[in-house]
Amino acid sequence: MIEFQRIQKNYHLVDHRIHDVLKGVDGLINQGEVVALCGPSGSGKSSLLNICSLLDNNYKGRVIIDGEAVTKTPEFAIDVRREKIGLIYPGFSLVTAYTVFENIEFPLILNHIAEDRRRIRVLEMMAKLGLKKYENHRPDQLSDEVRRRVVVARAFINRPVAVIADEPVADLNSREALFLIDLITKLGQELRSAVLIATCNTELAASCDRIIHLQDGHVVEHVPLASIQRRKVAEALPWGI
Ligand code: ADP
Ligand code: MG
Repeated sequence: MIEFQRIQKNYHLVDHRIHDVLKGVDGLINQGEVVALCGPSGSGKSSLLNICSLLDNNYKGRVIIDGEAVTKTPEFAIDVRREKIGLIYPGFSLVTAYTVFENIEFPLILNHIAEDRRRIRVLEMMAKLGLKKYENHRPDQLSDEVRRRVVVARAFINRPVAVIADEPVADLNSREALFLIDLITKLGQELRSAVLIATCNTELAASCDRIIHLQDGHVVEHVPLASIQRRKVAEALPWGI
């Protein structure tokens, strides 16, 4: 479970003006739930995600992960993030010198998982995401779509409490986008992670469990139609998860 309470975020602009981007935002994502964070460009989606993923500790309000309020000290944030959060961020690209296997394995090394257990878990994850044949490939040998699947695998490999994704399917065609979002959804449900995905893509948002809509610094929340579309895509997947 990840919860954010009364989050306020502002940026100090060069001309001494203050830009209030988030004006007291609340939300809660339960284990196994996939929530889309929507809102126009500039509405504060990335600002909120950076706070939830503990990359930004300069805000007012509280973030609660797994029932525990996160203190804002950077050292504490690093430990919590390593152990409990998976990131699907455009900026958090794969390590180019590592193979697909090594990229997916990396969070397990950081969390001191023994080598034999790491191998089992990475192979299992690669099988789920149709990545086995790319095991020894390096990221620059892969298509954009496959690379993103590797990023998803890396985000979920440590069975995180929460997965935070910032525009994970931007620039993919709609078939690839729905595919990827379906993978994220299935993994979130199976591993009981709370998943928060920022997106401007309404088709994609409709396939999540719920939408949190950001507008003028506030949240307007509503439940989308049942995810019939998601099930349809799941049936078409060439690999089962
Ligand atoms: P979104 O992800 O919804 O597009 P962002 O959180 O990136 O929104 O940005 C929200 C607003 O905050 C925008 O007006 C943006 O220009 C501003 N902003 C974001 N980051 C900074 C920053 N580091 N300094 C100043 N303003 C920023
Ligand atoms: Mg953004």
